[in-house]
Amino acid sequence: MNLNEKIDESIALIRKAERLAVAMHPEGLWVGFSGGRDSQLLLELVKMAGVKHRAVYSVTTNDPPENVYFIRRNYPEVEFTHPAQNFFTLVEKKGLPTRKARYCCAILKEGSGAGRVVLTGVRADESARRAKYNEVSIHSNRKEHSDRNSTYSLQQMIENEHRCIKGKDKVMVYPVLRWTAAEVQQFHADHRLSFNTCYEVSSRVGCIFCPFSSKREIEHYERDPLFKRNLLNALGRYVARADHKRFETAEEYYEWWKTGESISTYKERKRQLNLNLQ
Ligand code: SF4
Repeated sequence: MNLNEKIDESIALIRKAERLAVAMHPEGLWVGFSGGRDSQLLLELVKMAGVKHRAVYSVTTNDPPENVYFIRRNYPEVEFTHPAQNFFTLVEKKGLPTRKARYCCAILKEGSGAGRVVLTGVRADESARRAKYNEVSIHSNRKEHSDRNSTYSLQQMIENEHRCIKGKDKVMVYPVLRWTAAEVQQFHADHRLSFNTCYEVSSRVGCIFCPFSSKREIEHYERDPLFKRNLLNALGRYVARADHKRFETAEEYYEWWKTGESISTYKERKRQLNLNLQ
């Protein structure tokens, strides 16, 4: 399939998703926009499809300022939604998120678009987990949809007047799921999409203090003393609580978190280091 055929296929899916979206809500599609390359591609396709939509950036309060400026400057139509709790309040209560305990996405991002047809720029070749996604699925806390693998197609949901969707369920649609990174790059060049400078620091656009941030990315944002101070203040309150005595200080906790090691490995390595220095 060449690039034009791929564009046509994605637009056809977006238009079909709009039929369901409008039946569910007068605003039509909910388009999740992160500022990253794939979401730029998605939003461009949505505009080409000429469908009713609302494009939304979910603020986490742990957002790179460059990304916020980029979106405001280049995509003024994108709305910013704010979470009920900020990231640093969550850190104070739960500590920093880790790859195994990535609790903050669920609280700060995943509630966005509840009860709607949601489009996002997820692509299959980003991870083994995403490679298993279907282009259309129902995300719900209800048991019948717990595997996140809907047995309903968009056509069936339209025909059954979306009776299978209830309350906070979301119909997730991924129109660029089968696009490769090279095709995304080609589309950006052909359509002269703006360059997000976050990519000068990292291959991803995402939160600053994230378990998926690279060392280089964190060091880049640490240059802004405000971020680090906010984080250390929150971590200071976290470690001071009586039930968390694994670290003596916020600084020690933060140094451990940046290594990505288990606590036992980190402490053993530090112990060895201290022995060698004696
Ligand atoms: S992107 Fe990272 S830091 Fe941001 S909400 Fe998700 S897991 Fe948390």
